[in-house]
This record gives sequence, structure tokens and C-alpha cells, in this order.
Amino acid sequence: MSMNEIDAQVLDTIDRWVEKEVKPIAKKFDQADEYPHELVEQMKELGLFGATIGPEYGGLGLSATTYATVVARIAKAWMAPVGIFNSHLIMAACVQRDGTEEQRRRFLPRFASGELRGGLALTEPNAGTDLQGIRMVARRDGDHYVINGTKTWITNGVYGTCFALLTKTDPEAVPRHKGMTMFVAEKGDGFRVGRKIRKLGYRSIDSAELIFDDYRIETNRLIGGEEGRGFHHAVGGLELGRINVAARGLGIAQAALADALRYAQERQTFGKPIAQHQAIQLKLADMATRVEASRLLVEQAARKYDTGERCDLEASMAKLFASESAVTNSLEAMRVFGGYSYSVEFDVERYYRDAPLMCIGEGTNEMQRVIIAKQLIERNPA
Ligand SMILES: Cc1cc2nc3c(=O)[nH]c(=O)nc-3n(C[C@H](O)[C@H](O)[C@H](O)COP(=O)(O)OP(=O)(O)OC[C@H]3O[C@@H](n4cnc5c(N)ncnc54)[C@H](O)[C@@H]3O)c2cc1C
Repeated sequence: MSMNEIDAQVLDTIDRWVEKEVKPIAKKFDQADEYPHELVEQMKELGLFGATIGPEYGGLGLSATTYATVVARIAKAWMAPVGIFNSHLIMAACVQRDGTEEQRRRFLPRFASGELRGGLALTEPNAGTDLQGIRMVARRDGDHYVINGTKTWITNGVYGTCFALLTKTDPEAVPRHKGMTMFVAEKGDGFRVGRKIRKLGYRSIDSAELIFDDYRIETNRLIGGEEGRGFHHAVGGLELGRINVAARGLGIAQAALADALRYAQERQTFGKPIAQHQAIQLKLADMATRVEASRLLVEQAARKYDTGERCDLEASMAKLFASESAVTNSLEAMRVFGGYSYSVEFDVERYYRDAPLMCIGEGTNEMQRVIIAKQLIERNPA
């Protein structure tokens, strides 16, 4: 089977799974803030934990273009479960891209099957955007490192067991990034969950504080085997990460449009469907235009990524525009639904709570604008 045929088959399988398993449970699990354990088992069967891992390590090896489509289609039904495999795959990409061959063989097949799953642990209570300001220290002790410190906001922190962990092996280094080192850390003695964080949206999925207290880790878990490369490992996956967040934003923006379009034709005021009032038509037109523009930006960034071209400008534009479109479209859908938007019987209130996260994850939208401007200047010197 050719790669195109495999991709088409994957998309078809995902569509059927979303209709049958994801859509029907979204509201109930979101409202209860309950973890969707059954979806995790189904994701293992579908191969989602290995979606972007190379076939030589047991993954599906999907292109960024296909993967972004998978993400958008699931997010259109329910954005939250995407986080279960998305940050896991960023961890896996880090090992695949920057790990030693021994690390790839040890971890990637178990990541791909979902036997070992987890995510990316960068953020700390005092440092998010300013990643180089982290305080977690890894001190060498013979053939181990001893790690102390706290991570926060870590997706899959409660139910995941393995994390790409950013530390400082030289807290005094100048520039600061030269003292940063990344490990593949599995839960064990000295590595525990502090607390699960309660959230506005993106419910059901665990976001947690992780506490490291004299956690001992073997030196062969240092990604790539060389100290001082951790910051590069952390930012190396950001282009793909941003395309993924953009795809999640696209999914929410599409869902808000679809629901608003249907409701506007059903709801009557003053003797006609509200879709016949021009004020509502203007909203629908703008929402649909935002969806199309987001889709094209996501596709363009993913296509460039797949051809190996530099795509930081494109990925940032896609992330910025699609996430802001998710926020705007969900708010506009709230207006179209009037008072009913406030009822948990409809999904639009969930889109409205889930969308703002897309403006924060993988670099805030303020930072995306800074990146876009810097790239513009670099690519167009006066
Ligand atoms: C639900 C959720 C899940 C998450 N999952 C993960 C995860 O799995 N792993 C992980 O490591 N992290 C995760 N995060 C953390 C996330 O990556 C950070 O919240 C994000 O990077 C922003 O950092 P901060 O919250 O510390 O904000 P800050 O860095 O304190 O920023 C606050 C504000 O200042 C602005 N700002 C900061 N610096 C600048 C600047 N130089 N120029 C202009 N504006 C600036 C920001 O844009 C923002 O508006 C998650 C967060 C959430 C909410």
C-alpha cells in the first residue's frame, strides 16, 4: 500500500471512530471532568500513540499534513482528547530526532504502542514563556543524575508515566540555555504528582504539577547523551507543535461554525429563521471565512514541514490565526445561540471554554507575533 493509501485509510478510520466513540461522550465527560480511559485504549488500537513515529520503530509515520487533518477532525468533535496523544508525540519526536540510537530502540516502540505514554515537561511555576528561567536542577552523581524541582501544567501528568524533562545541569551557565539538559524520565522513587489542576476548559484531561525530590535517573536517559543541548531539544519540536495547536484551533472554529449554521436555520424569530436576518448572516460569513483561511494556513505550514523546508514563520502564522479564529468563532456561535449558548445542553459553551487554551499552548500568541515579525525582518532585509 502506498503512503497516500495508508493516509486515506487512517483518515477514514478516524472519521468513523470520532462519530461512534468520541462525539457521543464529549459532553458527559467534559461536564464531569472525568478521564476518558476507554478512549485511551481505543487510541492504542488506532495507533494514535505512534501516529508520527517512524514505521521502523512501530509507528504509523504519518506526514504532518495527514496528522494535522487527524487532529482537526478529532478536535472538531472534542478538542480535549487530542492532548492525550499530542504531547506524547512531541516527547516521542524529541527522542526520534535527538535521541541516541539506543534510546530510540528502547523507547520508541513502547511509545508507539502506548505501553509507555506521557508528554513534555518544560513549564515551572516561575517560568513558562521564559523557559531558560527554569530552576529544576540535575546534578551528576556517578552514573546517575539527581533531579530536584517542580514542573507545572504538565499534560498527561497524572495518567502518563514518562516525560521529556527539561532541567538545568549548569544553573550558572551563560548564556542560560547552555546549561540546559533534557531527559526521558519515567515515574519512580522521587518523582510524584503534586496535584491535578482544575481548569476552565480542556477538562477531562489531566494537567498536573510534578514534584521531583532527589529523583535518581541513569545517565543513559539524557537525550542525545550530551549535556547543554536541552533547550535546542525543547524548541526543536515547536514547529510541528504549533501546526498541531493550529489544527486543534481549526477543529474548534469549524465546530462552532457548523453548530451556528444549523441552529441559525432552525431558530425562528419575527416569523423567520434567524439565518434570514442580516446581522446573523454577517456572523456566519465571517466565521466561514475564518475557517477557510485557518485551514489554508494549516495546510501550507504542514506541507512546508513535510518537504523539510523551514516553516517557523508559516507555523506561527497558522497557530496565531487558527487559535484566534477558534476564540472568535466560539464567541460568535455563543451570540448566534442567544440564551441557549449559556446552557450546557449545547456544545458551544464548551468550544468557548476550550478555545482560549489554543492561544497559550506551544508559545503564546504574543510570542507568535514576535516570531513572525522577526522572521519578516530577517527574510526581508532593507
Ligand atoms: C491547559 C494547559 C496545558 C499545558 N500543558 C503543558 C505541558 O504539557 N507541558 C509544559 O511544559 N507546559 C504546559 N503548559 C504551560 C504553557 O506552555 C505555559 O502556560 C505557556 O508557555 C505560558 O507560560 P506562562 O503561563 O508561565 O505565562 P508567562 O510566561 O508568565 O506569560 C504571561 C504573559 O506575558 C506574555 N509574555 C511573556 N514574555 C513575553 C515577551 N518576551 N514578550 C511579549 N509578551 C510576553 C505572555 O504572552 C503572556 O501573555 C500548559 C498550560 C495550560 C494552560
